Amino acid sequence: MSVRIAVSGAAGRMGRRTIELAMADPEVRVVAAVESRGHPWVGKHLADVARVAGSEVCVGDRLSPEDRVQVIVDFSTPEGAVERARDAANLGAALVTGTTGLSAEQLDELGEISGRIPMLRAANFSIGVNMLLKLAREAAEALGEAFEVEIVEVHHHGKADAPSGTALAIAEAVAEARGRSLEKNAVYGRKGRVGPRKPAEIGIHAVRMGDVVGEHTVYFAAAGERLMLGHVAASRDAFASGALRAAKWICGKPAGTYSMSDVLKS
Ligand code: NAD
Repeated sequence: MSVRIAVSGAAGRMGRRTIELAMADPEVRVVAAVESRGHPWVGKHLADVARVAGSEVCVGDRLSPEDRVQVIVDFSTPEGAVERARDAANLGAALVTGTTGLSAEQLDELGEISGRIPMLRAANFSIGVNMLLKLAREAAEALGEAFEVEIVEVHHHGKADAPSGTALAIAEAVAEARGRSLEKNAVYGRKGRVGPRKPAEIGIHAVRMGDVVGEHTVYFAAAGERLMLGHVAASRDAFASGALRAAKWICGKPAGTYSMSDVLKS
């Protein structure tokens, strides 16, 4: 039996690719697609707008119980992610969301809802980035304070939030490994007479240009040497297929918060 999924942010870069890959995957079935209120896709058939043959789904601006959705896969906006979490709670569905840039209040609401439904949030669904997170954590711990950490991320010019959720997740992993608070030690870009770098700083830098899908590099620098751990996403397929893998994995799990590392462990 295939998992019945709804895709939120259906017309976006990630939503479209997720729908395309899902349509080719016999283990999932796209039974609903959601866009923002007033979006030109709302009310149209997916087959007409997304150019996916064989779909009878009509794009909506909300989800209906008749769709019998088991898992909502969301790549939209912070507001969209919160709406879909509320939908999931109302419909008894699970939520897999890759949306980044949520405020502390929005994250709190998702945290509260995850007490009632299975929810997986990931700033990055690619297997490579999840390995990068693990390696960055290990390197931060093993190399120790003598190695200063700077993170550089590059994305396409359409990206809404900066720095990327992935850069923040890497910074969080490094801070945790060193027993430091990210809030106190993060430095977002530098400008003006900033003075010498403090050893505990974790520098985070966002570059925006062209159509770059996503690149992350973590630098560990000490006197006379520099270690670089990096990841390049060459297409959105790595994210979309990871999200579908997470959707299949989470279906039927008990309520709670899950991460991509739970999926990759199994
Ligand atoms: P995009 O701007 O191309 O697409 C977002 C889509 O969401 C748009 O079509 C927009 O109309 C729609 N939308 C807006 N409000 C909505 C609502 N309330 N309900 C439903 N849909 C709504 O953006 P994108 O590049 O596809 O990225 C979307 C999100 O996913 C961003 O937060 C991005 O950072 C994140 N992202 C995550 C990963 C990952 O692996 N976790 C990978 C790539 C992008």
